[in-house]
Amino acid sequence: MRVVRQGRLFCKVALGAVSVVMLSDGETVMPLDCLRGPEGASLGEAGLAGADMREDKLHLPVRAFLVRGPEGSLLVDTGAGQAWHKGLGQLGAALAEAGTGAQEVSAIALTHTHVDHVSGLVGADGGLAFPNAQQVLVATEEITAFGDNPRLNPAKVRLMPLEQGDGPSFGVTSINAPGHSPGHMAFLVEGRMLIWGDLVHNVLQFARPEIGWKYDDDLALARASRLALMEQAVEAGWLVAGAHLPGPGIGRIERAGDAYAFHPVTRGY
Ligand SMILES: [Zn+2]
Repeated sequence: MRVVRQGRLFCKVALGAVSVVMLSDGETVMPLDCLRGPEGASLGEAGLAGADMREDKLHLPVRAFLVRGPEGSLLVDTGAGQAWHKGLGQLGAALAEAGTGAQEVSAIALTHTHVDHVSGLVGADGGLAFPNAQQVLVATEEITAFGDNPRLNPAKVRLMPLEQGDGPSFGVTSINAPGHSPGHMAFLVEGRMLIWGDLVHNVLQFARPEIGWKYDDDLALARASRLALMEQAVEAGWLVAGAHLPGPGIGRIERAGDAYAFHPVTRGY
């Protein structure tokens, strides 16, 4: 693995036959009570020590990842478009900064169907933001949720169900990681990098992986998926990449005492 190129909104990493480009959709903040203890209670001031905060709130970057292979480019998640917080919806700018554009994307796979992951599928004009993406792959469990969102109507004809073990593009394997949402999916790239969607919303969850997120559909199941995949990533030496990880959204995970630590990749690493 090596960081090939990096800019304000992107970071490109080479992984053998494929490369992965982190694309920033922008950054926002969320209320402090979004981080929750194992029983669902807010953490309180002391419990938030070590959290990534801005403006006395929780810092929440939003990211997508472009997996470039010999047979095309798979976009994992699409950002918030214009459907959520101000300052998001920068995916197009990130692609431009990385020297490409929406036309490069030949398929799309979603980690799940929440607003900050699906909304970028549709542009400000209401049309498909990635016209060359022939397939939009969504976990079977979330096909209905996708279909219930009228904003996504233009993308429905390209919808395809995604299951554990499927290979949405060259070198990419789908891995079930349920809990944050019923069909939440992670993607293992070249057996070396796990793009894990929303397993982690704040860096505090590496030191205290028992902590959940207010919008986890099932806190206990999300925790079980987080713990299992963190441990597997450490054991296998996988890099991890996440929609809400600190910059540049890709890093190494190491064991630290009873828990874990995150080390972002840097240029020259
Ligand atoms: Zn998210």
